[in-house]
Amino acid sequence: MAGTSAEEQALRPRVLILGGGFAGLGAARKLKDADAEVVLVDEHDYHTFQPLLYQVATDLLETSAVGHPLRGLFHEQPNASVHQTRVAGIDLAAREVKFAEMPPLTYDYLVLGLGAEVNFFGVDGAEHAFPMYTLSDAVRLKEHVLRNWKKTDLDPTLADDGALNVVIVGGGATGVETAGAMAELYRSNFAEDYPSLPQEKARITLVEASPELFSMFKENLRTWTKRALEKRGVDVVLGEIVDSITPTRVTLKSGKVLEAHTLVWGAGLQGNAIGESLGLELQRGKRVSAEADLSIAGHPEVFAVGDIAWITDTDTGDVLPQLGSVALQAGEHAGENIARRIAGKETEPFVYKDKGTMATIGRGAAVIQMPGGRTMKGKAAFLAWGSVHLALLSTGEDRAKALLNWTWAGFTHERSGRITVES
Ligand SMILES: Cc1cc2nc3c(=O)[nH]c(=O)nc-3n(C[C@H](O)[C@H](O)[C@H](O)COP(=O)(O)OP(=O)(O)OC[C@H]3O[C@@H](n4cnc5c(N)ncnc54)[C@H](O)[C@@H]3O)c2cc1C
Repeated sequence: MAGTSAEEQALRPRVLILGGGFAGLGAARKLKDADAEVVLVDEHDYHTFQPLLYQVATDLLETSAVGHPLRGLFHEQPNASVHQTRVAGIDLAAREVKFAEMPPLTYDYLVLGLGAEVNFFGVDGAEHAFPMYTLSDAVRLKEHVLRNWKKTDLDPTLADDGALNVVIVGGGATGVETAGAMAELYRSNFAEDYPSLPQEKARITLVEASPELFSMFKENLRTWTKRALEKRGVDVVLGEIVDSITPTRVTLKSGKVLEAHTLVWGAGLQGNAIGESLGLELQRGKRVSAEADLSIAGHPEVFAVGDIAWITDTDTGDVLPQLGSVALQAGEHAGENIARRIAGKETEPFVYKDKGTMATIGRGAAVIQMPGGRTMKGKAAFLAWGSVHLALLSTGEDRAKALLNWTWAGFTHERSGRITVES
């Protein structure tokens, strides 16, 4: 706490939180009033709001609306400090964490909130794909697409080779939202920016291995989503698996070859690689098993939360999905349980409060499925999606930036982010 001496600080238990995503932040904030030293470590100096990454990639939002300085989130929490370095290894027996650029730290409690990594499922040529998981992924994709249009403007024959075509892999939220936003960017903005280029040679194709998009949603929402994407000019290819990727071609398992200089990968995740170094038996998707109170078996001082964790719903027995809402609630619960332990109390089991699942397809088009099974689609769902995501952003400043960009784009179709800045 503010004003405590170094000796007093040393006597307080140290809670080491690895990862400043939804899970890590949730845990840290719930420890605000605990008599503990809270240390949060992340390899970035910002918290990423992943659900809106595709809007950075498609020029609707600027990076600072989606990445928020981590240190700034703790100015009002004197018992917390933030360090920016990569976690290099965890020794559970010694209760010690090693870092890339900082001496090791011991802990009394550890929160594992390192998230997940992209899973390419061993596809040949994965290095040519553009994943969509981090802020730098989004910026890389945005710049690549802008560069391809610029190059084709200077040499229009490139359009015949598929330079403007984009293949997006994965019919879940990441793939669908990216495909819808990319289609609007293409049809509304690039069509006007590059009137001399053949727009029919700028195709967006969404490839999904299963026979349907959005497997987590009810049938009516799946059908509506497919139609909404097609209305925006997206070719939806179902039941096809990507076999290999080169910088200019995507080959499907069926043998079909798609000419495209951009492939966006939104098809799968696996737990952070650090999980593999713990010496624990991991669950499917390399996720670390969490007990009912979110601690890990045999280590009541270690809590696994968010995308890295395999958390079972206490009510239904189902494994909870890798979602921001699960990560935030689980992180908060882990923080509360640690505070309970520090205060000499028992931990409590985690109960997830499902507030529904939602996704956007484009301007004025979204789908929502409520916990009881009720569904919403279209403009009303889009407005609800907008208010929920605004509320979830870290600060009022981030909300204001997003609201300004969305409102302006809503009226003018303008995407002011479509510039490339050389560094
Ligand atoms: C494109 C996209 C769209 C999504 N849309 C939605 C949505 O609409 N609704 C929803 O609920 N969820 C959505 N999600 C899922 C949601 O964003 C994640 O479930 C959530 O971010 C997980 O939170 P987390 O804290 O577990 O992990 P993360 O948010 O990934 O945070 C992990 C943190 O750990 C840090 N880190 C990782 N490795 C290291 C290391 N070795 N050393 C130091 N730091 C490290 C990272 O920098 C990161 O800050 C989406 C995800 C993506 C990618």
